Amino acid sequence: MSKAIVSKLYDSDVFRMACRQFDKAADAINLSEDLRDRTKYPRRCMAVALPVRRDNGTTVVFEGYRVQHSLSTGPSKGGIRFHQDVTLGEVAALAMWMSWKCSLVGLPFGGAKGGVIVDPFNLSRGELERLSRRFMQEMVSFLSPRVDIAAPDMGTNEQVMAWMMDTYSNHVGHVEPAIVTGKPISLGGSEGRREATGRGVAYLVKAYLDDLKIPIREATVAIQGFGNVGSETALALAEYGARIIALSDHTAAFHRPQGIDPRKAAAYVRYNRVLHDFDGGDAITNDQLLELPCTVLVPAAVERVITEVNAPRLRCRVLAEAANGPTTNAADRVLDARGDIEVIPDVLCNAGGVIVSYFEWLQNLQNYYWTRDEVLTKLYAILDRSKASVESQLRKLKFSRRLAALTLGIERVAKAKEQRGLFP
Ligand code: NAD
Repeated sequence: MSKAIVSKLYDSDVFRMACRQFDKAADAINLSEDLRDRTKYPRRCMAVALPVRRDNGTTVVFEGYRVQHSLSTGPSKGGIRFHQDVTLGEVAALAMWMSWKCSLVGLPFGGAKGGVIVDPFNLSRGELERLSRRFMQEMVSFLSPRVDIAAPDMGTNEQVMAWMMDTYSNHVGHVEPAIVTGKPISLGGSEGRREATGRGVAYLVKAYLDDLKIPIREATVAIQGFGNVGSETALALAEYGARIIALSDHTAAFHRPQGIDPRKAAAYVRYNRVLHDFDGGDAITNDQLLELPCTVLVPAAVERVITEVNAPRLRCRVLAEAANGPTTNAADRVLDARGDIEVIPDVLCNAGGVIVSYFEWLQNLQNYYWTRDEVLTKLYAILDRSKASVESQLRKLKFSRRLAALTLGIERVAKAKEQRGLFP
């Protein structure tokens, strides 16, 4: 009964994909039937209408969501996405992945996610501010530093977090930086948070290349998506000595076998918002980018871009999932059968973001701030530990790396639920 109601609410390709991943992992570790649905389905969700005054005086109503997947091990934690394709099911899937990710890397958080159906590129700065503030206003009774903490995701950034933090603080009557992470440093943001996800991706890519005995200076990299995660991944990998041969965003994609300077691309995007008309190399399509011969392929944009159609044609050695959910279940089966591509699964690969968000929340609660070196050293230590536990699970149980990571994450959440018992 509850199963049917829940699946209807969230039903979508991406939610079904997250559920199938869960089912496979639950089967692999023989998770008891009693715990399965409790662990799998989101705890609760909120849908809100967001009336916003446009610059031309008219009013438009956007729809927004927040899904809190699990609150069994601490407050829930997750980003807020502004994108035209957002659905409640997508937000629920992303919240579910956040639970496994936080659990895998040992953070005292459950998973959450939020989203608004809007193309932020079509909003003026004033409209974006009014939408961000209205979203937080509607969520005031649903979020708190001890219940659910927000962060940036696709289409949102430090400035959006600043408006949300200001709105919440005005509501409660005192400054409450711990309500969101990914804030500007002047408002209690953490050193190293802006680059944390991309640096974490790059750090893990280097670690896996080391395992494969591929010198990073000989590695070529293609990256889809050039926002916060894609650009910071490119900058960090280039710093390690890798050659970035392709970049893209939703407006353009470029290929240059001799290498593209990611600093130039980042400077271009800072000024022009998007890569359109950037002089980066030969124009290609986003689909072509994914199939380029390269050492490392980094999807860093939307879900479900590696499919059963292009998976047989991928020509990378390492697939580093900086985006959440970039690989469909059918593509996963193809990659498992191929066996020649090392997949760094999303729940491990992009965990640097939530790890440093955790550090930011801790610093806010303690009012004691760390240096960038302290932040990055602690980040890398957690990534090393998490990678080691995934590799040990993979060896012990002969799982794929995704299954190894998911089973570790899911097992810890399920165990916490079991030990707490079922109320009432
Ligand atoms: P962002 O909004 O800063 O950047 C998104 C980028 O993807 C932009 O360059 C955009 O143009 C591009 N893009 C959008 N649709 C595209 C498409 N169809 N094809 C090609 N490019 C497209 O977002 P972000 O924060 O960098 O997030 C990117 C991914 O990383 C998302 O999957 C997000 O959930 C995940 N992620 C983000 C963080 C974080 O800290 N921001 C942490 C973990 C995971």
